[in-house]
Amino acid sequence: MSWTMARRAERMNPSIIREILKITERPGILSLAGGLPAAETFPVEAMREATARVLADTPREALQYAPSEGFGPLREWIAAHLGAQGMDVDSSQVLITNGSQQGLDLAGKLLLDPGSRVAVESPTYLGALQAFAPCEPEFVALECDAEGPVPAALDAAAGARALYVLPNFQNPSGHCIGEARREALVAAARRLALPLIEDDPYGELWYDAPPPRPLAARCPGQVLYLGSFSKVLAPGLRLGYAVAPEPLFPKLLQAKQAADLHTPGFNQRVVHEIVRNGFLREHVPTIRARYKRQRDAMRESLQRYLAGLGCRWVVPSGGMFFWVELPAGIDAMALLPQAVEAGVAFVPGAAFYSGTPRHHTLRLSFVTVTPERIATGIALLAGVLQRALSTTPHLTA
Ligand code: PMP
Repeated sequence: MSWTMARRAERMNPSIIREILKITERPGILSLAGGLPAAETFPVEAMREATARVLADTPREALQYAPSEGFGPLREWIAAHLGAQGMDVDSSQVLITNGSQQGLDLAGKLLLDPGSRVAVESPTYLGALQAFAPCEPEFVALECDAEGPVPAALDAAAGARALYVLPNFQNPSGHCIGEARREALVAAARRLALPLIEDDPYGELWYDAPPPRPLAARCPGQVLYLGSFSKVLAPGLRLGYAVAPEPLFPKLLQAKQAADLHTPGFNQRVVHEIVRNGFLREHVPTIRARYKRQRDAMRESLQRYLAGLGCRWVVPSGGMFFWVELPAGIDAMALLPQAVEAGVAFVPGAAFYSGTPRHHTLRLSFVTVTPERIATGIALLAGVLQRALSTTPHLTA
């Protein structure tokens, strides 16, 4: 039997990261490749108690079909939570999603036609490229520097359906867009009447200072904002949210209904039970303290082992990743099997480009490995790179 699939199926790709993870998560491999939060940060006890309370107090409501918009009290909590970050959000604008990944999928369905343009950072989050690709858009890869999209480059996005942007501790580059750059981007987006999709799963994971206000706080009617509980509670809950401007919300809701009717009401009630009394105010600082130690360990190890080999990176002030540029001419994808052989894994950077990839880049996660193991992993990586450089004499660092 031969099935004829829709054209969009051709644009669906396996996540290279998930494919790589299958190899790199083998026992014995020190993996700096994962994009997972540290499981030690999951609030298991609070989950246990909240689950018991939901099952005791509202078991039938929690197990029944629920509104597509989401659980009202959780939507209100999210609106207030974002209000504290400078966003003026009414709970009627909040749609609860199955992780922010679903927000990306729905945004693609809502905004992109075959051949329409969508602007993205370069590099950008691979999962967004995966979510948008089946809609068959043309990706416009914007020039970025250490602080995100260069405002002057935004003209290339004129006429695009949206710019997808990650202002806080971007996956994969780790960059955080500063105050002045945010203002410049918003001014350019206004001038071009360019809608923004602001993806912000990492904003609360800051280690040096809180990031500047979200873009959605600066030009609210122009931004579809996506948030997530994955990095501050647990990704297995699959709980995220979209904040949509007035004209977008009804269609976003219809897309959500078509996709899955609603996000599990049980999970929403459990999470609301956890967050409603200020749990995150105590919990998130413990995650920050943990990840900051690991970030610092990776910074020191990179300086010690890779600085002399012609590599470059910008120290991320939050999030989960270092983005490393190897000496030009070294292909990180070709280096990976040698690294795995040596016992360490990373994600080659090429996967994160919508257009021409920069092959000499790679992403390192620091959150699931202890500081000691981070040092071991970076030393192993340096050994592999050293060997590659020595067999490619014209590439001496
Ligand atoms: N956006 C970015 C930038 C991410 O890194 C991730 C998770 N890796 C997501 C969205 C999706 O997260 P979730 O669906 O768990 O909220």
